[in-house]
Amino acid sequence: MAGQQARQAGQTQRTIHVGGEWREADSRATREILDPADAKPFAVVAEGDERDADAAVAAARRAFDSGEWPHTPVAERAALLRRVADLLVRDRESLGLLESRDAGKTLEEGRVDIDCVADAFRYFADLVVGEGGGRVVDAGSPDIHSVVVHEPVGVCAMITPWNYPLLQASWKIAPALAAGNTFVIKPSEITPLTTAALVDLLVEAGAPAGVANIVTGPGHTVGARLAEHPDVDLISFTGGLASGTKVAQAAAVSVKKVALELGGKNPNVVFADACATDEDFDTAVDQALNAAFIHSGQVCSAGGRLIVEESVRERFVAELVRRAGRIRLGRGTEDGVECGPLVSEQQRDKVEGYVASALSEGAVLRTGGRRPEPSDVRPAAGYFFEPTVLDQCHRGMKVVREEVFGPVLTVETFRTEDEAVALANDTEYGLAGAVWTSDAGRARRVAGRLRHGTVWINDFHPYLPQAEWGGFGKSGVGRELGPAGLAEYRETKHVYQNLAPKPVRWFAG
Ligand code: NAD
Repeated sequence: MAGQQARQAGQTQRTIHVGGEWREADSRATREILDPADAKPFAVVAEGDERDADAAVAAARRAFDSGEWPHTPVAERAALLRRVADLLVRDRESLGLLESRDAGKTLEEGRVDIDCVADAFRYFADLVVGEGGGRVVDAGSPDIHSVVVHEPVGVCAMITPWNYPLLQASWKIAPALAAGNTFVIKPSEITPLTTAALVDLLVEAGAPAGVANIVTGPGHTVGARLAEHPDVDLISFTGGLASGTKVAQAAAVSVKKVALELGGKNPNVVFADACATDEDFDTAVDQALNAAFIHSGQVCSAGGRLIVEESVRERFVAELVRRAGRIRLGRGTEDGVECGPLVSEQQRDKVEGYVASALSEGAVLRTGGRRPEPSDVRPAAGYFFEPTVLDQCHRGMKVVREEVFGPVLTVETFRTEDEAVALANDTEYGLAGAVWTSDAGRARRVAGRLRHGTVWINDFHPYLPQAEWGGFGKSGVGRELGPAGLAEYRETKHVYQNLAPKPVRWFAG
């Protein structure tokens, strides 16, 4: 429980765990972790580099090659995952608080994240024990026994972003362990605290030394080394398109398996018939608000592109603007706060840049678009940005094409179903999108035509651990969650046994 004590704010926290031991960075370097609500440091963590990455990969390699974890019976591996889920429930309040403070989300969002993390561990435990032991293939002869089996890939490296630090980590760690792999994880350098705490829980739950390793540090050193490392068999990356491209290039040199969960530019298509009654109208607006502004829009599946039918546009946007202007900003742990700050000064600068470019390209600012007055938000020093609605947008604008990753909603309109689909698909990404309509046939038609990995009909944002998550196009390669999310962490082997071998006589001599 030493790690748990070290989780207290203000102390240097051990965040590098290699071969069963918590240690400092090889260089002894540390990094201050800032609370984005007040821009003040609240924790200090180890700042690893390539040497720490190498040590962690070596430990994970030894643990895998020893065969202990890969050959641990599936029921025992699943039992460990379930113990981790129980420990997450035990520590829900402290972990939820830590996630809220580190990533700047509300405390309630932090708590919900921890519930979802526990669900992921339980889901993969159930999935792996529910499977049979391979697939027998009919080879056309009673003398041949042919079976297809699944084995762990080996040493998995994982790189995660700052918006859902623990959730993204769990979607990788749970299936990787269920399948019998060992791993090294590198969380975002600005939000590493809950991932280190999770490794602590894995140790407490009984993970053997070397199975679960973590190295904190920057992407260009620790992350890049993991991506290129010849002893890493698989790299699973969640983050932005630019970094993901570099990871894929580095991984190609050693031909390791690559899974990429990248960004999105997610359309929320609203047909007029979804607003026929006052109640339906209220639901569609409320969900559009949630789609765009939850966690200040720092969500890969954020519905930042509202594509609304021309005939309801005026009323819809007016109500959206009214409600966006009332969203209460502040420190995520304060009662009544609905949105926290952006995660960093750099992120706020980036969002401001997108708003400025949109205005220069002709967008009309309906609300927000600036930092709140210091007197309007507490603490005043936090990286806050007002929920922003930009009207009169079109596909030529940078703010419509690129992922903003902040509280910015753009409005486009359409007249026909074909036009709505064309707009929604006009993106290099393809992560998620929604269609709002009361016409069941149209709902299914449009959902079938959207080129996105997840399509919601009359809803926005929900995901299920049982259902695959991932993107078309530049939103990524591979899937997390669901059976495919487990398959990512497995090799498939065909074992062909001849029970009555005879000479082949292909060669006469
Ligand atoms: P980022 O790409 O800047 O960083 C992500 C991670 O990659 C960090 O740990 C970082 O240190 C590391 N990294 C950076 N450069 C690297 C390199 N050259 N080699 C190896 N690692 C490197 O992304 P971010 O700003 O932390 O997160 C936001 C992005 O994540 C958004 O684009 C968002 O859409 C995406 N995201 C996607 C999903 C999904 O499920 N598809 C989920 C959450 C976030």
